[in-house]
Amino acid sequence: MNKKLVVGWFSFTCCEDSTILFTELLNDHYDTWKKLVEFRYLKALKTKNSLEGLDVAFVEGAISSPTQEKRVREIRENAKYVVAVGACAVTGRPSATRNDFVDKDITDKIQWYFDHFDYSKKVLKLDEVIKVDDIIGGCPMDKNIFLSTLEKYLKLFKIISDA
Ligand code: SF4
Repeated sequence: MNKKLVVGWFSFTCCEDSTILFTELLNDHYDTWKKLVEFRYLKALKTKNSLEGLDVAFVEGAISSPTQEKRVREIRENAKYVVAVGACAVTGRPSATRNDFVDKDITDKIQWYFDHFDYSKKVLKLDEVIKVDDIIGGCPMDKNIFLSTLEKYLKLFKIISDA
């Protein structure tokens, strides 16, 4: 069997619109990608997923809790390359809007959320937690940059020819 690019797709704090856009892209690209890409971790499409031996991890969303920081470090350890997908992962925003709160904005209602959920004090963009190799900006992601980034890694791993 021909070698495939082993890909993981992960979502953290965000609205997951880039995941939706990605699934829309399958309408046009599924037949091609199924021959070239193994989606080893992709919860939007399947329940049995694995982190092991990823060539490329696409990571959507900002990092807003210690649990998420730990998880994304684990992804980094298992992936040769990590790509930040969408503005929330690349810049932190809009998911990091709560970083703008000043003390007087923290009402009892807001404090309740901090006390009852696993939130970090600040919401972080991806490269504040792990090394990022590539970025795909946009809110949601720019689909043309996603397609060219995927092609770049298909060539880098010699799944398709560079010619
Ligand atoms: S970058 Fe935009 S579309 Fe993507 S998760 Fe954040 S808010 Fe949603």
